[in-house]
Amino acid sequence: MSTNLSCDFLIIGSGAAGGVLAATLSEHTTKSIILVEKGGYYTKSFFNQKELPMAKALYTEGGQRASLDSGIPIRGGGCVGGGTTVNVALCFDPIPRVWEGWKRDYGLTGFSFGEANDYGVPGLSMSKCLQNVRQRCSIGTPSDDLVNDNNRLFNEGCQKLGIGSQKFELNMKGCIGCGFCALGCSYDAKQGTMITYIADALKRGATTAR
Ligand SMILES: Cc1cc2nc3c(=O)[nH]c(=O)nc-3n(C[C@H](O)[C@H](O)[C@H](O)COP(=O)(O)OP(=O)(O)OC[C@H]3O[C@@H](n4cnc5c(N)ncnc54)[C@H](O)[C@@H]3O)c2cc1C
Ligand code: SF4
Repeated sequence: MSTNLSCDFLIIGSGAAGGVLAATLSEHTTKSIILVEKGGYYTKSFFNQKELPMAKALYTEGGQRASLDSGIPIRGGGCVGGGTTVNVALCFDPIPRVWEGWKRDYGLTGFSFGEANDYGVPGLSMSKCLQNVRQRCSIGTPSDDLVNDNNRLFNEGCQKLGIGSQKFELNMKGCIGCGFCALGCSYDAKQGTMITYIADALKRGATTAR
């Protein structure tokens, strides 16, 4: 059965980009927004930590997508939240040196790192956006008690050999360390777009469609 929907803004895909866009637009305009996602909308009670059914439901092409010769699996989230529902929550800020290289070599335009008026919007810059994402997704360095044994041993080995090591930052809040991030977080501890930006957008009146 087909349904006719109309809106002012149509956003296709509810992953990292689409979710943030829906929330940001809904914050700054009263115009109608529809966020379209081709995959399912699953919440924490659905995530049962079993690899095969979760891969089938949450990943693009049921987790079977691969390079043409099947030599390299190419995984991507295929559900509300996209990759942020199935990723392992490692967070990296964009690196200014790399960004400058993309500008120079590939003609990238847009965001800057300084205090700027990117896209003609007063005060908008990469640094400002990063602050917003860091805050909304609760990005921070995990405490020592959340470091599991393999990473603890790796760190000890590095120290003994005089090799520098540091913890990754993670977008988690109240993580119990179960290790099933790639199958969806059953505890809503991983702060992907589904429970952060998309939840905000829906509260402000944006609509989802499949
Ligand atoms: C297993 C795994 C682990 C990862 N771990 C990390 C990590 O630790 N740290 C990190 O920084 N990155 C990680 N990533 C990568 C990160 O999640 C992605 O780079 C990021 O989610 C990409 O954002 P995006 O908005 O471009 O696309 P996505 O988040 O992939 O969102 C795209 C969405 O669009 C939907 N879609 C596609 N086509 C259509 C269509 N025609 N109509 C409607 N909807 C459509 C898809 O179903 C999907 O939900 C990981 C990715 C995977 C798969
Ligand atoms: S509780 Fe922590 S380790 Fe377990 S799935 Fe959620 S974020 Fe990942």
